[in-house]
Amino acid sequence: MAELRFKGLYEIMSRRVPEYEIQETDVTKIYGIHVFDRVKMSKYIPEEEFRQVIIAIDEGKKIDRKIADKVAAGMKLWALEHGATHYTHWFHPLTGATAEKHDTFFEPSQNGVINDNFSGHELVQQEPDASSFPSGGIRNTFEARGYSAWDPSSPAFIVGDTLCIPTIFISYTGEALDYKTPLLKSSHALDKAAVAVCRYFSDKTDKVVANLGWEQEYFLVDEALFMARPDLKMTGRTLLGHASAKDQQLEDHYFGSIPLRVSAFMRDFELESYKLGIPIKTRHNEVAPNQFECAPHFEEVNLATDHNQLLMDIMEKTARRHMFRVLFHEKPYSGINGSGKHCNWSIATNGGLNLLSPGSSPHRNMQFLTFFVNVIKAVHDHSDILMASIMNAGNEHRLGAHEAPPSVISIFIGKKLTQVLDEIENTLAENSVFSGSDLELKLNLIKIPEILLDNTDRNRTSPFAFTGNRFEFRAVGSGANVASAMITLNTIVADQLTEFRKDVEILIEKGEDKNKAIISILKRYIITSKNIRFEGNGYSSEWVEEACRRGLPNLGSAIEALKAFKQDKNISLFEKNQVMGKRELIARYEIQLEDYIKKIQIESRVLNDLAINHIIPTAVKYQNILISNYLGLKEIFSNESDIYTCQLNLIQEISEHIEFIKNNIIEMTETRKSANSIDDIEERAGIYSEKVRPFLNSVRYHIDKLELIVDDEIWPLPKYRELLFTN
Ligand code: ADP
Ligand code: MG
Repeated sequence: MAELRFKGLYEIMSRRVPEYEIQETDVTKIYGIHVFDRVKMSKYIPEEEFRQVIIAIDEGKKIDRKIADKVAAGMKLWALEHGATHYTHWFHPLTGATAEKHDTFFEPSQNGVINDNFSGHELVQQEPDASSFPSGGIRNTFEARGYSAWDPSSPAFIVGDTLCIPTIFISYTGEALDYKTPLLKSSHALDKAAVAVCRYFSDKTDKVVANLGWEQEYFLVDEALFMARPDLKMTGRTLLGHASAKDQQLEDHYFGSIPLRVSAFMRDFELESYKLGIPIKTRHNEVAPNQFECAPHFEEVNLATDHNQLLMDIMEKTARRHMFRVLFHEKPYSGINGSGKHCNWSIATNGGLNLLSPGSSPHRNMQFLTFFVNVIKAVHDHSDILMASIMNAGNEHRLGAHEAPPSVISIFIGKKLTQVLDEIENTLAENSVFSGSDLELKLNLIKIPEILLDNTDRNRTSPFAFTGNRFEFRAVGSGANVASAMITLNTIVADQLTEFRKDVEILIEKGEDKNKAIISILKRYIITSKNIRFEGNGYSSEWVEEACRRGLPNLGSAIEALKAFKQDKNISLFEKNQVMGKRELIARYEIQLEDYIKKIQIESRVLNDLAINHIIPTAVKYQNILISNYLGLKEIFSNESDIYTCQLNLIQEISEHIEFIKNNIIEMTETRKSANSIDDIEERAGIYSEKVRPFLNSVRYHIDKLELIVDDEIWPLPKYRELLFTN
């Protein structure tokens, strides 16, 4: 029994008693109880100050110190009543995780009395010793000065005994060291640009927000087995392991019922999420064994981003209570599906009108088409930076493999809308269109069903698909901070809408009617962005070839994709829209390269350890068994060589694999060493990508072959069938 190999571990783990209490399961009683939301603010903050804070939040105005003091006092009172003893500024550093440094609310005073220690000042600004967060050279380590500053647009919340205050994180020279700062700026840019365009259709719109509904995919793995896999523990993915005889080929997991132990985990983390006001709505199995997904109802993009980061944290903590580990890596297992985080993105007005949702009147359709076509044009013109914003060492394994979108960005819009765009392109012929005819009538002929949700035939192979009232960006990786993709998406659309307005104004100045000007610019965009539209199978190799013929960038290498960050056109895009400056972009580029190098370096070291200290000794042990068997057989049957030839061949085969592994590990280490001596980070990352990375695959190949030969009883690591089917 192979599973007996890990019996000891199972026993140790099962002796651990889960520490959690039985939870209140009535969602109406617990929803948001750990969030200092508007209702609680109104109770804990004096009326006038509350009013001011709400104005500041809704209109993005500054909050003055006196108001901050009142908010801090109310927030603290609420937190203390809910058992909090500490507070922290909670932010999203560029590591991709979240960071917190806890301080107590209390402080000893001279006469021994414990005094409280949290005013507007502590609420608004903190100076964590931040020298070890990545900053890509912006903040020299010796200065160690990054400030975190309160983001009132995302509510404070309590986790455990700590009040967490969402904050931005910036250097003392004002550059962003986090994801939230540019995210807020990109939302502001989008708001401004979209409102200006909305004015063509209505003078009531004075605010536009981006909404995001993410779908989080993940794998679960039994904690005991996880512990026995140094690669999973150290890198989040398996660096070796032969494919299981059965994995996802029967497609029985996707529709299967959720295993009991897994649904207990889901229930538990969902309840924790509800307390924090995260509106988790759906849960289901995913395609691969032990792969699952959850998704909340969509929210404003800043809040949705905070909630996703928070949820990943909650899931990791909750998984331990159920003796699971949750894997957010984009490709934990080779040969089966990876995990993504689909980002459903739309834009809506303060009146609640979804600008990407078609309506019944020609007027609404025109507005819809304007935003719809501009998003397509934005993605067409900037697909390189969009790709850069989601690329990393993990997603590089996922994109283009096993039911993941390819590394070429294309847009799927469905049959109906393709017809509509074709009609605009063809029937509204240049110049002749408008002469003497009634535009309203023309537009009326273009039928856009109000509800498109059933019409879009849900092409699941497209990296960027229109799904009826939103775009779904599917190339985002499961472990990513969604802010990175959202910053880019908001910015490119903001930029495009600004361009659109300029183009339309030029025609209006020439005396063109407003509606005619709009439609003729849209028509121009439809034509110029046409080649990014693709309705076929995005997973096919024919598409990759076709995309290449169309001249669409194919950025399968993370290192190549990331270069978009330093290109002049992209720097000026972010500068123009006041989202990030050159130094910030170059810093981000370098941080990403550094991250890439470190990830491959760690994987390479872990594989080195596994190969030399786990696999080769095991292979030798088994080989010795074969050798004594061979010697014994030879002694008994000296004249009948066919009786021991099989053993002889196996002994030889094992030696060949060992030799290959050993030699390649030495070579990989040498390559790493020479790469490490290179100062230029780009060049170093290039060597890690092109020279070090291939060793991971070639060494693995031989280890996986050994796994098929060596006695199961002595194989030291849990196998794919155990990792994937224990739940
Ligand atoms: P799927 O069928 O792709 O699995 P779901 O219907 O489960 O999608 O929804 C996926 C996500 O899309 C959810 O988070 C949902 O709230 C979100 N979503 C729905 N409508 C919008 C919208 N207009 N803007 C942004 N996100 C939306
Ligand atoms: Mg989806």
